[in-house]
Amino acid sequence: MKKMYTLPELENMLTCRGEEENRLYSEAKRVKNENIGNNVYLRGLIEISNICTKDCYYCGIRKSNTETARYTLSDNEIIEAADFAYTHHFGSIVLQGGERSDKEFVNRITRLLREIKKNSNNELGITLSLGEQTEDTYKRWKDAGAHRYLLRIETSNPELYAKIHPNNPLHSHSTRLKCLESLQHCGYQTGTGVMIGLPFQTITDLANDLLFLQSMDIDMVGMGPYLEHHATPLYEYRHLLLPLQERLRLSIHMVAALRLLMPDINIAATTALQAIDPAGREKALEIGANVVMPNITPTTNRTLYKLYENKPGTHEGAAESMRKLEESIFKSGCKVAYGTWGDSRHFQSR
Ligand code: SAM
Ligand code: SF4
Repeated sequence: MKKMYTLPELENMLTCRGEEENRLYSEAKRVKNENIGNNVYLRGLIEISNICTKDCYYCGIRKSNTETARYTLSDNEIIEAADFAYTHHFGSIVLQGGERSDKEFVNRITRLLREIKKNSNNELGITLSLGEQTEDTYKRWKDAGAHRYLLRIETSNPELYAKIHPNNPLHSHSTRLKCLESLQHCGYQTGTGVMIGLPFQTITDLANDLLFLQSMDIDMVGMGPYLEHHATPLYEYRHLLLPLQERLRLSIHMVAALRLLMPDINIAATTALQAIDPAGREKALEIGANVVMPNITPTTNRTLYKLYENKPGTHEGAAESMRKLEESIFKSGCKVAYGTWGDSRHFQSR
């Protein structure tokens, strides 16, 4: 049954300290273990390109950042990375990248999806995170083999959204919302999420974000701290930011509160958590998250997919990230579920 919380109750969850904070964590942990157990699902993250047509004020690979060299992985590199995930029994991959919607790009993704499905005997699950597209494109990619899609709403507050994006039709909150609806309409397991600790963001905004995720009946969530990048317009407002450790704590509270609200969805322990503190990802897994996305992009290109400063794991190889990952999952009291798509129980029970 859907658990309802009021806005003040959620605001309190996000700010509580001491005994109340301990209670929040233990309750979230209990709800998680009761509803979905302690399995952690892997999605091998392949950052296919840092070329983007958009200019989000927070993102290090925004179109106007001329400091970044641009790359696109070759078909071969993408297929080999997918093969690595398949042979290492990850169960699924995420193809993520800057937003493009030209015909050549849409066709290429369609072709790659078919090829990856064929090479893995249909066994590898594929999530896409390639931004806003037409419903027709979403349908084509679904027909070609993708079955989950991640598109963060970034913030559910349209006024805050307007502050962190350029004022042009390419960056419209209502279009982003419509895209999420299109994804649900096409039958994807739909994931969204928000950045936590943005300049101008309030606790009420974040509590409303939680209610938004619940009202959208979303299947999976990836949310994490906002981290500044020196070559972006939002960097100018860094004096407004919470200290890093506070952003981390707020993010952990968001994960715990969301687990109470939506007991059977998939929640990712995001890389940005780990960027603040290596223990951040473990804590998130312990109290509510159940998905991690080890980076399996070829290391030569990984440094160029720099959304924010100090992105972790940009130099280590796939085998090294895997070893660290298994260790941290074990420390969080969870276990890796290999060889499964790890679909959200919420989606399965629709
Ligand atoms: N281009 C696609 C999109 O925007 O949906 C997918 C790739 S984009 C890099 C994935 C996510 O990175 C965004 O949804 C955003 O939340 C996150 N991101 C970008 N810049 C960030 C930053 N400075 N700190 C934390 N997260 C950031
Ligand atoms: Fe492009 Fe996504 Fe970065 Fe926005 S967040 S600039 S759409 S890669």
